[in-house]
Amino acid sequence: MGSATAKAYILTHGVVFTDSALAWARGMNAKEQNMVYNAPRLLGMASRPQEMLLTDEDGYTVCVSAVAPVPGRMPAHVSYQGELRIETPARPRLTENVAVRFVSRPRYYDAPSRSGRPMTRIVSACGLDELNVWPWHDCAVSGTCSFCGINKVAHIANPDTFQSLAIREASALEAWSAQEEGYLGELTEAVAVAMEDDCYDEHLHLIVISGNLSNDQLNDQAMIYGRIARAIRSVADSGRFTEGVVAVTAPPNDLALLRQMKSEGVDVVVFNLEAFTPAAFRRHCPGKDRIGRDHYLRSLDEAVAVFGRGASWSNFVLGLEPAEDLLAGCEELAQCGIVPGANVLHLDLGGSAGLEPPQFDTILDFYRGLADICHRHGMRPYYCAKALRTSLANEAFDGRL
Ligand code: SF4
Repeated sequence: MGSATAKAYILTHGVVFTDSALAWARGMNAKEQNMVYNAPRLLGMASRPQEMLLTDEDGYTVCVSAVAPVPGRMPAHVSYQGELRIETPARPRLTENVAVRFVSRPRYYDAPSRSGRPMTRIVSACGLDELNVWPWHDCAVSGTCSFCGINKVAHIANPDTFQSLAIREASALEAWSAQEEGYLGELTEAVAVAMEDDCYDEHLHLIVISGNLSNDQLNDQAMIYGRIARAIRSVADSGRFTEGVVAVTAPPNDLALLRQMKSEGVDVVVFNLEAFTPAAFRRHCPGKDRIGRDHYLRSLDEAVAVFGRGASWSNFVLGLEPAEDLLAGCEELAQCGIVPGANVLHLDLGGSAGLEPPQFDTILDFYRGLADICHRHGMRPYYCAKALRTSLANEAFDGRL
């Protein structure tokens, strides 16, 4: 019982809000959906709160994404009657003594940007305290991943401010270089403003993230990420970012570029396999499969050599393959110094209709197993429980499951 198990319920059943809860969310200026790379698959999603914070009596607090209800399951129910309340109908005791509130809209969302583009198209917050930096908003991988709706969300969210790096240009680096000065100027101003926000008082998890350029332009992507890291470093004291600069990207084709990324200021690289077994990887990530599972694994190994043990990460989507197969894969990676992590599959706009999130007990067992792997290998889960909104890795590691 408690915030972590209530979060597990929401992630496996979804959540609905009463009109009174939505009115409360508007009144207290809750953060709505960023509409940058994902959004829950349901009508009216753009005006739903993006996340909630759940707090136990001892103050332990977790952030959870307001994921779409799962067909055939009884979603969590959030209402407002003088205070926000949450119920988990199929397991009513989970929310005893758990307080719920919405994550506030960061102040910097309303700050002006140099070009007049909305701030959330440049930087935005995921969970309470991630600061996501967006070089571009779409993905040109040669076969989108089954669960991912990035291209759908990027185009419908705000077509006027949609930013593509002309990713189908012959040379992405050339296209980038033409706009680099303006982009980096705007970005560094945005990061400097965002860093002052209260939501980053405790942690600031700085993450450069985007969809991927086409397979033959992944060296360009590595170089662009390096330049962005260098620019961000120029406006922040070392140590201001909890993990340093984290780059979530596809691996470059030429692994020598990992050293260049490091020398430019990237501290952690994240090459997400999403699914571990070759069959699940091929089925759910056809574009990444063309880049090559072996190349991903080689890159993660090489990143351990370049960035250090614990600074080469690979995240998975729990629900694409049997949980025990994924756990065995996490053990394999951890033995090599690579930090494994996983988000619970959620139903997003643009994701394949045939997917179903895993069951409640499955995710508890999985994250307990993942915590055991982390403890045995002297690793920590990524970020923190207030940042990772669709994962229970931190909660399990903290002994809360
Ligand atoms: S590589 Fe896959 S998961 Fe990543 S942005 Fe592209 S489609 Fe989405």
